[in-house]
Amino acid sequence: MNAFDQELTARLDQLRQDGLWRELRRLDSPQGTRICIGGQEYLNFSSNDYLGLANHPALREAAARAVQDFGAGAGASRLICGSLAPFHELEESLAAFKGTPAALTFSTGYATALGTITALLGADDIVIVDKLVHACCVDAARLCGAKLRVFRHNDLDDLESILVWAVTKATTPQRPRVLIITESVFSMDGDFAPLRALVELKDRYGAWLMLDEAHATGLLGEHRRGLAELESVADRVEIQMGTLGKAFGASGGYIAGSRALVDLLINRARSFIFSTAPVPAAAAAARAGIELVQGKEGAERADKLQSIVRQLRQTLGTGADANTASLSAIVPKLVGDENDALAHATALREQGVFLPAIRYPTVARGSARLRFTATANHTEQDITQLGVALRNLPPTIPAA
Ligand SMILES: *Cc1c(COP(=O)(O)O)cnc(C)c1O
Repeated sequence: MNAFDQELTARLDQLRQDGLWRELRRLDSPQGTRICIGGQEYLNFSSNDYLGLANHPALREAAARAVQDFGAGAGASRLICGSLAPFHELEESLAAFKGTPAALTFSTGYATALGTITALLGADDIVIVDKLVHACCVDAARLCGAKLRVFRHNDLDDLESILVWAVTKATTPQRPRVLIITESVFSMDGDFAPLRALVELKDRYGAWLMLDEAHATGLLGEHRRGLAELESVADRVEIQMGTLGKAFGASGGYIAGSRALVDLLINRARSFIFSTAPVPAAAAAARAGIELVQGKEGAERADKLQSIVRQLRQTLGTGADANTASLSAIVPKLVGDENDALAHATALREQGVFLPAIRYPTVARGSARLRFTATANHTEQDITQLGVALRNLPPTIPAA
C-alpha cells in the first residue's frame, strides 16, 4: 500500500471505530416500499419518496417521452447551448404551483442552495441560519463569505438577539444585507419551524428569509405548496427553495419567487451557470410529479400519507402530537450512541426492515437515531409488519 492509501486507510479505520462507517448498498429494484438488496426483499422505511411517485407510471412515461423528443443529454449549461423546452415547461408549472411570479430549477437541491446563497450575499453581508438547517445551506452560508451566525434551533429569542446585533452594524453607510435561512420541516427531526412568528420577526428587522421546503412541498397546505402556504405567509417569504427529488419523485432543485430573484440567479448563481443542465427526462418527470401532486390523486396520496404517518407514530410510541392536522412524514427514534444506532438498524435489517442509522455528521455526535420515513405507498399491513419486527428485536436491543 502506498503512503496515500495508508493515510486514507487510517482515517477509515477511525471512522469504523467511531461507528461512523458508511457504505453503499446496491439496490436491484426501483425505489418503493419493497426493495431488493443482495437477492433479499426488504420493507423500506428509508426513502423521501413521500408520495410514492418515483416509480409512478405517469412520471416514467413523461421521462421516456422526453428522451424520445429531446434526447438523453442536455449538451451544456442552459446559458450556453440553448435552454431545452422541458426546463421551461417545468419552471412554468412550478411557478403556477407555488403561486409565485417565477421559478428556476437547478440540477439538485444542494446546487440550488449553493448557487442562490452565494449569488445573494457577499463579504459585507450577514447570514443567520437555524442550528439544524441542511448541510447544503450551511456549506453555502460559509462559501458566500458573509458573516455567519447560528441561532438555537427554532429559538426566536436567540434569533432576535442576533438581529439586534445585525442592525447595530448598520451604522456604516452601506447597510448590510441580512438573510435568515431555515427549513419548514426539519429533515432529521421532522419538526416544523415557527414560521408565522419568524416571518413577523424578520419583517420587523428588515431581514430577508430563505425557506427550504424540501420536506414540506407536495405535502402541506391546501394546495400542498408547503408550510408557507399552510401558515399563509408565502407572499412574505423572499426566497422559497425546494427539491424535485422528494415528494415530486424526480430529481433537481428549485427556487420560487420574484422575477427579479430568478433573473439575478440566472446571471449570478455559479452552480447554475457553470454546470451542464440536467437531463431533459428529469425535468419532464418532475413536471409530471408536480401536475400529479396538484390533482385529485395528489390530494388522495397526501391524505393516505397522513393516515400512514399516524399509524407509524403509534407503532413507534411517538404519537404525542398525533392530533395535529398535518404531520411530517419523518419520525425519528433517538438512540444516542452511534454504534448502538448501527446495531438497531442491523437488527431490523435481519428482520427484513430497511432503514438508516442517522449519525454524525448528519446529526450531532451522540444523537444518532433511526429515521423512519413513511410514504403514501405504505400499507397498514406494512406498519403492522414493522411493529412485529420491533417487538422481535433481541433483548440486548430495546424496542426503540
Ligand atoms: C434533501 C435536502 C436538500 C437537498 O436536495 P437534493 O435535491 O437532494 O440535493 C436540501 N435541503 C433539505 C432540507 C433536504 O432535506
